[in-house]
Amino acid sequence: MARPLIADIDLDALRQNYRLARDQAPHSRAIAVIKADAYGHGAVACARALQDMAPAFAVACLEEAQILREGGITAPIMLLEGIFEVTELERVEALGLWITVHTDWQLEALLAYRPVRPIPVWVKVDSGMHRLGFSPEQAEAVWACLAAATDRACDLHLMSHFATADALEPGYFRRQLELLDDLAVRLEAPTCFANSPATLAWPEAHGAWNRPGVMLYGSDPLEASNEASRRLAPVMTLRSAIIAVREIARGEPVGYAGRWKAPRPSRIGVVACGYGDGYDRHAVDGTPVLVNGQRTTIAGKVSMDMLTVDITDIPEADIGSEVVLWGRAANGALLSVDEVGRHCDTISYTLLTGVLPRVPRRYHQAGITPQ
Ligand SMILES: *Cc1c(COP(=O)(O)O)cnc(C)c1O
Repeated sequence: MARPLIADIDLDALRQNYRLARDQAPHSRAIAVIKADAYGHGAVACARALQDMAPAFAVACLEEAQILREGGITAPIMLLEGIFEVTELERVEALGLWITVHTDWQLEALLAYRPVRPIPVWVKVDSGMHRLGFSPEQAEAVWACLAAATDRACDLHLMSHFATADALEPGYFRRQLELLDDLAVRLEAPTCFANSPATLAWPEAHGAWNRPGVMLYGSDPLEASNEASRRLAPVMTLRSAIIAVREIARGEPVGYAGRWKAPRPSRIGVVACGYGDGYDRHAVDGTPVLVNGQRTTIAGKVSMDMLTVDITDIPEADIGSEVVLWGRAANGALLSVDEVGRHCDTISYTLLTGVLPRVPRRYHQAGITPQ
């Protein structure tokens, strides 16, 4: 039998989450963010599953867009960071992409380029994230410049990114939004500001467009969940099985450095999944897992190809028993990737994007057999 570790991808859940994003921001059009191989879920498969609903997709770079085009995706694709070098403009045009322009050299490159048809441009403003984008004053000048260059640029939109849309404390978010709203009014610009948390929690930030990412995969990005975010459904189930069982005496250590010591006579299940698959090595003892759909915890340091779990209280667990690292167990029990992240001192984003190519992806969609 093959190694049991698999990432099951529920494309119906992906569609359901996209619909939720759309319903939360009914006057916005939702660009599905599928960068980083759709947060580890497989960009082409996810784009295909969404293409009858999503008016556009967003990725981080031209190479990611190219993979989607080769996979038959014809919808517009936004490059969230625009071009990385001047020579990319030709391919942007050939692939029919939308670009962001966040810095002077990108603007100059576009103005020096002679496209056959003008390229749709999203002008990126730094409203307080202080990562990418023009200052609001610069943005006005850039906007004027692009608006005049009708043979180079078309469909101008104002874009920005929030630093704290997920946080309970709204002060900084409001400051960013106020600045953006002022600018959008001055430019009479259609806007695109909201990421997942702003889509879920800040209706006042829903512009003409929004850009949900992680919520599409069922992770709740909010510091304090709300009614909508609680309806998100997990898309990825990282599933494996127990491949060996140990009975150990009280006080015996398990795994590297003996980090975990049995507080009582214990049964330990060895699971085929490790950091060589992308499972986070920072997982502490006590990190939850589901064995046969019942919650238990990691006991001992995560190894490259294996990890160990305490199955003392799940006597029926044995070699071959299902282990869910996050997602939905066969009995319907859920373990959210967000909760696992909290035990690894990280966030769902790194866990999901971190699932390595060694883990086969298996896709499920109603009426479509897994392949
Ligand atoms: C990744 C990204 C998003 C999506 O963010 P989520 O928090 O995953 O919703 C939106 N906009 C930009 C510019 C991004 O880089």
